[in-house]
Amino acid sequence: MIIELKSSVSEARAQELAQQAKAFCIHYDGRWTLITSSSLKALDPSFESETERFTVLADDIQLASRVWKKETRTITLPNGIALGGSTGNTILIGGPCSVESEEQIEQSAQLMVELGVSTLRAGAYKPRTSPYTFQGMGLDGLKLLAKMREKYGLNVITEVRDATHIEEIIEHSDIIQIGAKSMYDHGILKRCGKTQKPVLLKRGFGTTLQEFVQCAEFILSGGNPNVILCERGLRTFETKTRFTLDLCGAAWMKEYTNLPIILDPSHAIGYAYGVPDLARACCAMGVDGLLIEVHPNPKVAKSDASQQLNHDEFRALAGSLKAVAQAVGKRIA
Ligand code: PEP
Ligand code: MN
Repeated sequence: MIIELKSSVSEARAQELAQQAKAFCIHYDGRWTLITSSSLKALDPSFESETERFTVLADDIQLASRVWKKETRTITLPNGIALGGSTGNTILIGGPCSVESEEQIEQSAQLMVELGVSTLRAGAYKPRTSPYTFQGMGLDGLKLLAKMREKYGLNVITEVRDATHIEEIIEHSDIIQIGAKSMYDHGILKRCGKTQKPVLLKRGFGTTLQEFVQCAEFILSGGNPNVILCERGLRTFETKTRFTLDLCGAAWMKEYTNLPIILDPSHAIGYAYGVPDLARACCAMGVDGLLIEVHPNPKVAKSDASQQLNHDEFRALAGSLKAVAQAVGKRIA
């Protein structure tokens, strides 16, 4: 149950009530709000006089549910670009899988500026499937991203691999990416609940939508309202493609959750040849953003080489997305 307290209720009183109800207590839309287990179906009469509104939820998808808040949340990024809500924006996020050198990330940043793309992505801490492959540049990579943000006014999104370096990620990024393999990392989820920085939460490739959105609830119930859901492909019986992009899941998220949605066709298919078509299909779903991997020279990329577009391919894709977005009442930002 979500209990929105009257705006006259003080923080101290809200905390008292939260303790009594064994609830989370967050400040949302100008009032203190309590979130209890969804198994609670009736308001304790002693809460009535201090309650503005309460919402009974069917399950533990609560703060993310459209039953509680009908409108998709609006998330404003530091360079003024917003997504979700009534913005009509489909934000394009482009960049290499990993930061590999200053020259490489600067070329990527310049491509984003050339195309008017607002947000640069790249990993510095990579959660690789083998310990013997490139693990990312770590803090040096983060500093290069921060330099690109300063120099080119781009938003930067980068992944937190584990909770040991989360403070660095919060300091140097504009959007914190929680990767598919870290979706369940409670150290990360709980710390992300204590910042106001936007968080892009990727769906684990073997998880249900319920499990995925409940992970978002860990961040939301901690007090951070700025969560973006990202579908990036599931592990299925299919082996010809790297993963299977769950567009049905995206439709479900659009219908039932109030969180902006970003789709990642690059990690889903795993091969550059299919990324432009898939990206256009994703865009046609009217989602809030796309995350695409692009590298100055994909053949020599240190991670995810097969799926990264080259700069010309990305230019052509970005151009073609404008008309697709327009056809569904959106605008590429
Ligand atoms: C990435 O974005 O480079 C990445 C590692 O993605 P995922 O967590 O979806 O595998
Ligand atoms: Mn990658």
